[in-house]
Amino acid sequence: MPENKKDIKSMKKTEIEEFVLSISEPKYRANQVFKWIQKAGIEDFSKMTDVSAKLRKIFYDNFVIFNCAIEKKLISVYDNTIKYLFRLFDGEFIEAVLMKYKYGYTLCISMQAGCRMGCRFCATAVGGLRRDLYPSEMLSQIHAAEKDAGVRVSHVVLMGMGEPLDNFDNTLRFLELVSNGDGLNLGMRNISLSTCGLVPEIDALAEKRLQLTLSVSLHAPTDEIRREIMPITRKYGVDGILEACRRYTDATSRRISFEYALIEGLNDSDECAFMLAGKLKGMLCHINLIPANKIEGQSFKGSGNERTGGFSAILKSKGLNVTVRRRLGADINASCGQLRGNVMQN
Ligand code: SAH
Repeated sequence: MPENKKDIKSMKKTEIEEFVLSISEPKYRANQVFKWIQKAGIEDFSKMTDVSAKLRKIFYDNFVIFNCAIEKKLISVYDNTIKYLFRLFDGEFIEAVLMKYKYGYTLCISMQAGCRMGCRFCATAVGGLRRDLYPSEMLSQIHAAEKDAGVRVSHVVLMGMGEPLDNFDNTLRFLELVSNGDGLNLGMRNISLSTCGLVPEIDALAEKRLQLTLSVSLHAPTDEIRREIMPITRKYGVDGILEACRRYTDATSRRISFEYALIEGLNDSDECAFMLAGKLKGMLCHINLIPANKIEGQSFKGSGNERTGGFSAILKSKGLNVTVRRRLGADINASCGQLRGNVMQN
């Protein structure tokens, strides 16, 4: 943390109140400051125009605002999807992707710089985990994208770099802050959290009874196949993950969204589709099929349209809800981790 100052954008309103009272200022000052930080997304304290210069100085001396600097930005010529490469205060890089849908703008944000889950098809896995992001740095991705693009982000997906449940406390604090009415005020139903399937953390999340959408990156119907692409399977097997998902649905009444990246010849056979359908039978769920994006240095490739259609048809014939994910930003390496990978190589 720079100069031992506290990270104010990660602080709850009650925590700012404590500070404000400790310097004998009226409590309502905390509300003003919280709104400047969380809602307006100011990048330095001088912007707090309804706060005295003396108090601004006190904040400057005690706190720091963590921002995301735009290091690089790519705009898709197909669909105006924008990919941001952000630089953090300590020089780490993370990515976020802004996508336009009929219902508004969705931002895909990062939760960690790097990742330690080691999924073979994922560009973020290369180089391992650098560090966890602070709640402020998750929020700042939204502030930075909104400011740069001049739009209001209405939906957030925690599907960028890193594993949100491996940065559990910071992710939960982020969720609390981003949904605060005096902050960005995003509804939990407009937020999706994607995990590779950390069972104890899925259970811990279920206890919070949040109305967000839980996405689970399943990618295979059996441990044998899943182990080849997702090492975390050695710790948590497919059946154990699905049991945790059922407990999650029981606790929250929310349907689970399963991510399934189709990789040619690995997990895309008819047999895989039938096994998957068998395992998901009777579950309150939805399946997102994504032809895997190619990453450099890996031999596998994504399944073609025909195979994807065949796989999808089998799941549907078994009564499952399936969508084939529209590929946005195909020309700008919109899969997270890819842009950072390129920059880090140079
Ligand atoms: N760690 C979390 C969230 C980040 S990854 C998780 O595993 O869910 C976000 C999604 O992108 C996951 O579903 C992940 O499996 C998928 N993904 C990563 N690399 C991909 C690739 N090359 N092709 C298709 N999907 C990919």
